[in-house]
Amino acid sequence: MKRIGVLTSGGDAPGMNAAVRAVVRTALNEGLEVYAIYEGFQGMVDGGKRFKPMQWGDVGGILHQGGTIIGSARCQAFRERPGRLKAARNLLLHGIDGLIVIGGDGSLTGADVLHREWTGLLAELVANYEISQEQADKHPTLAIVGIIGSIDNDMFGSDLTTGADTALHRIVEATDAITSTAASHQRSFVVEVMGRRCGYLALMGALASGADWVLIPESPPDVDDWETKMCDVLRKGRQVGRRDSLVVIAEGAQDRKGNPITSAYVKEVLEKRLGEDTRVTVLGHVQRGGSPSAFDRNLSTLLGYDSVQAIRSMDPAGEPLVIGMRGNQITRTPLDKCLHFTEAVGEAVRAGNFEQAMTLRGRSFRESFRTVRTLVRALPHDPVPGQVRRRIAILHSGGPAPGMNTAVRAAVRLGTDKGHTMLGVSNGFPGLARGEIRELDWMSVTGWATRGGAELGTNRVLPQGRDFYAIARTLEEHNIEGLLLIGGYTGYRGVLELYAQRHNYPAFNIPIVCLPASINNNLPGAELSVGADTALNSIINAVDKIKQSAVASRRTFVVEVMGQYCGYLALMGAMASGAERVYMHEEGVTLQDLVRDVEQLTTGFKRGKRLGLLIRNEKANTVYTTEFMRALFEEEGGELFDVRQAILGHMQQGGDPSPFDRILATRFAAHCVEYLEKQIGEAEPVSATIGETGGELKFTNLEDIPRLMDKQFPRPRRQWWMQLREMARVLAQPAPHEQNNEETA
Ligand code: ADP
Repeated sequence: MKRIGVLTSGGDAPGMNAAVRAVVRTALNEGLEVYAIYEGFQGMVDGGKRFKPMQWGDVGGILHQGGTIIGSARCQAFRERPGRLKAARNLLLHGIDGLIVIGGDGSLTGADVLHREWTGLLAELVANYEISQEQADKHPTLAIVGIIGSIDNDMFGSDLTTGADTALHRIVEATDAITSTAASHQRSFVVEVMGRRCGYLALMGALASGADWVLIPESPPDVDDWETKMCDVLRKGRQVGRRDSLVVIAEGAQDRKGNPITSAYVKEVLEKRLGEDTRVTVLGHVQRGGSPSAFDRNLSTLLGYDSVQAIRSMDPAGEPLVIGMRGNQITRTPLDKCLHFTEAVGEAVRAGNFEQAMTLRGRSFRESFRTVRTLVRALPHDPVPGQVRRRIAILHSGGPAPGMNTAVRAAVRLGTDKGHTMLGVSNGFPGLARGEIRELDWMSVTGWATRGGAELGTNRVLPQGRDFYAIARTLEEHNIEGLLLIGGYTGYRGVLELYAQRHNYPAFNIPIVCLPASINNNLPGAELSVGADTALNSIINAVDKIKQSAVASRRTFVVEVMGQYCGYLALMGAMASGAERVYMHEEGVTLQDLVRDVEQLTTGFKRGKRLGLLIRNEKANTVYTTEFMRALFEEEGGELFDVRQAILGHMQQGGDPSPFDRILATRFAAHCVEYLEKQIGEAEPVSATIGETGGELKFTNLEDIPRLMDKQFPRPRRQWWMQLREMARVLAQPAPHEQNNEETA
């Protein structure tokens, strides 16, 4: 295969640009020619100028842009065979025999049809004398790879689809704003989000915003008179002191009989039955718009990169594939399987088979729904007679990580709902030693779902010496039977210390579970920690602005990011912002590196480059500091370019948690509470850390944690994301034969 085409089709989705950029650059790097087909299938049918060969620089500076720079459309003509005949002819005229289609299930269905009809279409074109037999023989097959671009996350084949995370950002920005005004006036709000067939955005939006009720198509309210049930919950909530009520509704919400439930109807119900001033906000296209989130930029980049690898290596006559993600693993699934399962959910919903619809959506969707249903309760369930009530303490330790509060709230509510007494420890291990403990009841964590910082307080102080005795006393005095640590590296170390001392202090012989919360993402047993996604978003927002500030001059920026000894934020920040070079401690920095980088910058600027962007982890090298690099590059850049440094600092630890972090924190917390429940009372309780690997939640025995840690530096010995370095390099620097087309980012 020599020449491939890439198109974006159907509803646009933030992140499509990142995918296009990755496809183009990876293809060029692999020695393929790549054409963008503008305006989706419409462009394919129209041909001519809609087919444009792409160079390295054509996809520069687009990572941060919403929508799709190559245009998208809905195309009626392509739904009919004559339209597809034209499309096939145009592909043939341009010598394209591989297609990467970025779109929703409609677009991918269209691509599938084209693939299946290919031979027939060519035969017809030959018969009509529109192409020669020789031309047809040269392109006997059309290889197709799909990337799901859909803000609704409504398709089988990827845990998350391009655009869904950004849409959640827009939703959460809106609900956060709305809840603050709603609380001031004690109002009710109904927020309608997109999702005609899929409740993903509504469900996760509700989970992330701490909403009071949610309505989705796949799981309609389980009673006929759901209006009464909903109003009861909201009324009780008011009685116990909630100042606002928020109902999140998917546009396709329905009752069990299949009658639509509209936002206007919900408003009417709330006004009539609760006598509350109720406002409706229909978010609409806001959810499609705006700059893509860090997650969407990196997800789409990965998918775009792999789609080219896949199209190169697959059997050209083979079945089309969809490239998706499961956890952090890239997956390749036959397109017809993806379409089949996607359709199956739709059918189950239409047939009123909601149980099956939820099963098809997958375990984590079902679980989240259950969690939301508990979290929205005004008050916990009444205790079940004979229920064992435990006393579980929650503690932070380590640097602040956005999402800590979210995790505490979820743990408190889910624990309380099961009848346990949940206790909050203030100020980390020192607080635990001093006995700073209070009970956290259901209402005490109201509003914590969305709040940055750490209400309980956190610090990086490890217990030592007499602290252990004091901690043992606190645990005994408060009858603490299980401990949940929500924190970072210091927290993990502290817990390991307690664990090591459990033979000296029987009070430590309780199950302890660690929930990873650190912007650095440097914790063993977890691929991702709570807080890292928020920090990454803070980084790219800052870098986007920094890049814009350099419009007029030829300038290079050295941006320093946090991460301690872990390069995660640096590498992922570089990928999401299009930086050309990343420095991290894991790889070190040598003088030769710097000499080479100076040369590369100089060559680039001589060829007309206007902006250089280098991202450096704070601890990449103790001698070659950010200031050192700035001075070195400035000196060497001479008249050609100037250099500025930007040390992003503590803004990376601040801010309200991103939707991704809120969801992760809630999921982790729910499982940690269940875990503690199981372990408390066991003769030999097992302590563990929680994490997600390959899309599955997993507990790692505390005994195994030291082995997973790097011996010298505070980070895991194996870091999954290190394998992304090669891809980051490919996308950041043009291959030698491409360098004449160099542009920025
Ligand atoms: P999305 O891709 O976002 O689901 P649509 O459902 O509107 O958006 O599909 C986008 C385009 O894909 C349609 O305008 C049409 O050109 C093409 N398409 C959709 N379904 C089919 C089909 N069954 N056969 C051929 N083309 C289709």
